[in-house]
Order: sequence, then C-alpha cells, then structure tokens
Amino acid sequence: MTLIFHNHNFQYEMERLFRSFFPPIKIKLSYDKTDAVGDYCLTERIELEEKYIFSVQLCADEERYCFEEDVPEDTPVKEQERIMSVMLYKLLREYTGKDMPWGILTGVRPVKVISGINDADAEEKLWISLDKIELARKINRIQRPMIDDIPERSFSLYVSIPFCPTRCSYCSFVSHSVDKAAVRMDEYIDRLIEEMRQTADIAKQLGLQLDTIYFGGGTPTTLSAEQLKRLFSALDSFDRSRVREFTVEAGRPDTITKEKLTAIKEAGADRISVNPQTMRDSVLEAIGRRHTALQTEEAYALAREVGFRCINMDLIAGLPTDDIEGFRYSLDRVRELSPENITVHSLSLKRAATLFRDRDMCGSAGAADMIEYTHRMLQNDGYAPYYLYRQKNTADNQENTGYALPDTESLYNMYIMEELQTILAAGAGACTKLVDAANGKIHRISNHKFPYEYLDRFNDISSSKKEIFDFFV
Ligand code: SF4
Repeated sequence: MTLIFHNHNFQYEMERLFRSFFPPIKIKLSYDKTDAVGDYCLTERIELEEKYIFSVQLCADEERYCFEEDVPEDTPVKEQERIMSVMLYKLLREYTGKDMPWGILTGVRPVKVISGINDADAEEKLWISLDKIELARKINRIQRPMIDDIPERSFSLYVSIPFCPTRCSYCSFVSHSVDKAAVRMDEYIDRLIEEMRQTADIAKQLGLQLDTIYFGGGTPTTLSAEQLKRLFSALDSFDRSRVREFTVEAGRPDTITKEKLTAIKEAGADRISVNPQTMRDSVLEAIGRRHTALQTEEAYALAREVGFRCINMDLIAGLPTDDIEGFRYSLDRVRELSPENITVHSLSLKRAATLFRDRDMCGSAGAADMIEYTHRMLQNDGYAPYYLYRQKNTADNQENTGYALPDTESLYNMYIMEELQTILAAGAGACTKLVDAANGKIHRISNHKFPYEYLDRFNDISSSKKEIFDFFV
C-alpha cells in the first residue's frame, strides 16, 4: 500500500492515523502523485481561487473510496489538518468497518487535549468514543489536586540504566544486554555518578528543589547490589530534604534479589516496580523474557518482605500468542497479589523491535477486550486510573493506563506525562526536559543514546548542561 501526500504538510498526522487502522502492514510513503497506482491512499490539497479542495482517495482490493470537501483558504492550518484527518478517518472507517476509540487523535497525551475542550467537540470534531472521553475526564479529575500541589521551582531527577538481561521481542528501547555491556559497566556507573554530581551542583546554583527521584531503564536491577549502592551514593550531593517520592523501576523479576532490594530500600526508595508483562509462561517465552510467572511472584514477595510500601506491576495487552483468557488469567493473578499500582500497556508495534519483523506474530489478539476487562475489574477492586499515555501503532488503537489504590499515585508518572515539571536527567538515552509551565515553554536536552557513545563523548554531555542555565537565568 502506498500512502501519498500531495501539496500539504500534514504527512505526520496522516501517516499516524493511517497506521492506526493497519498497524502491521507495510506502507510506502510518497510525495509523488504518479505513485497512485495499484493499492494506494492519496491525500491531496488542491489550491483554487479563495478556496482549497481537500481530497482523500483509497484504492484497495479493486475498490475505490473517495471524499472531497471545499475548505476556505483563510482556514487556520491546524484546522485544515483536523479537517483532512477527519476525512481520512471517515474513509478508512468506511473501508475497514472499524472505529478507532481515540478517533483522529494520534498524540501521546490525549488527556491534555480533552481537558481543553467540551464533550461535544471531543466526540463530533475529533471522533473520540464516549468511553475514552469519560476515562480522560476521570483521570483529569484525579490528577488535578496533585498537579495543583507541584512546589515552585521544583524538579524531578531521572537516572537511566539502559541495560537488560535480554531484549524482549516487542521492545525498541535502546537497552543493551548486560553480557555485552559488562566490560564497561563500572565505567558507566563512574560517569553516571559524575553527571549526577554535576546535576546536583547546577540545581543548587539555580535554587531548584529536588521533588521526586526515578531510577528507570532498561532494568536498573541488572546492576549488582554493590554497583547500586555505589550509584545511590551520588544522591548525597543533592538536597533531599523536600523529596516526596523515590522510585526504582526494578522491572525484570529475574534480576531481583534480596541484596539489591535491601540496597534500594536503604538508599531511601519507597516505590518499586516488579513487571510481569504476562503471568503465562508460554507467552513470556514467546516474547523473549527469560523468567517465569513464579519468579514474578517470588520477586514480589521479596519486595514486600524488604518492606516496600508501594509496588507497581506492569502488564501488556495484545502480546503475541496471548488471548483474552490468557490476559484475564494474568490480570487476575496480579490482582490477587494486590500491588498498590497496576499499569496496563497496549502492545505497540515499533520498527526497531524484533517482533515487527515477524508480522505473523503481530496480531492484536483482542486488546480492546483486554483493556475493557482491566478497566472494569480494577475499578471494582478500588483502583482508579490516574495517568494515561498513548504510543504509536498500538494494538486495537488502545492506550497505556496507570491504576492506583487511593493515595498511592506516582507523582513522577503524572508530571512527566503532562509535562508539568522540569526533569533533570542523567545517563545514556536520558532526556532532560526544562519546563516553564507559566509561559508554556519546554526545552529538551538529549544525552547520547548508546552507553558507548555516552562514555566516549561524555564531554558533550557536560557542556550541554549550560543550556539549563540559559533556560532558567
Ligand atoms: S525489560 Fe523493558 S527495557 Fe528491557 S528489553 Fe524488556 S521491555 Fe525493553
């Protein structure tokens, strides 16, 4: 199938919307109208005097669908983009017979968009389903008091450990297997400590107050207990007197030991993630995670024994070889453990993931039903959805939602998703996000992605910190 963009600049939205209807198919992108042969979808803006004609056409399986609409030439560009998106949406809906729950919305943060408009506009102009509008409104209500509570000139610290024991087949994250990285692991930790100390110094000079701490990955618990302790020692450079939350995303159950959990607890962390993704061993094997459901339960029990007050568990809806019964079984087993937080992701098909190359394994396997089951059962159990984000090409066009028991929501997850607080980040692949919420300004500084780049070009990282001063002073 060829997707053609002619005489407009809405290619990003058109492509994302198109892919949401057909996540696993291969698409050729073109700006040349003469490519409109065979199976194709042409999106076009024709300029006439005082108006445009917008046209979308789909030729597939020897059938042809076409919509055209006159658009006044003084229509703002954003509105033009919306009009063409709705036209493409209606055309693909007619061809596939499917509705997309998030309508024409393709962005990462739908809660932010929906909070700025009324229900009628969300439904009629963006074609969002009533269920999703209600979900977004509920999340917005739950977040509001915590968002109003962000301390002035505060920031979150993010520390990146981009290593994993093996690569999961659905993952596109730039994480390195520990086997390959072991030779330079100690060097990585030394540099990371140096960057954290530089960050602490900058925060002090700018009068920024540390609010939340998050160690993520990858899998932070690929480090040994000794390495973790060494890394945590860099936190002494920060003023932690007003820290409200400290999370370590342990992640893979096969990397979790009592010594590591104790090191994390002694460093002051009060939240941890133990992520099963599924509780079916056959599915774990199919996605390349070398652990079992039993190991997840053992890691969870250890985390409780060590005394963590808040544990999050991640599941994924739509994994290859899984089905609705399998997903229900996974969710029910996790519910029996009663973690304070449960986060349910929808499988996202990413090009860099090995799964993407095996299209037979890319079926959504009823992800919409899995998400509906999650929402119903977790709310019955007393959990509430409190943050939500979307990724590209997700199974059944669904979302990722974090659920929490009352008063156990993660501030960091909310603040990062809604872009409300500055994040000073350290480590390979980490992205510092400077936020001036009052003036709607955001500036990003990305560190080198790969650990070897981070180590070999560390001076670049140190000099890019100057941008933090430029932003705040
Ligand atoms: S554990 Fe997470 S970051 Fe690591 S390979 Fe799997 S999905 Fe990717």
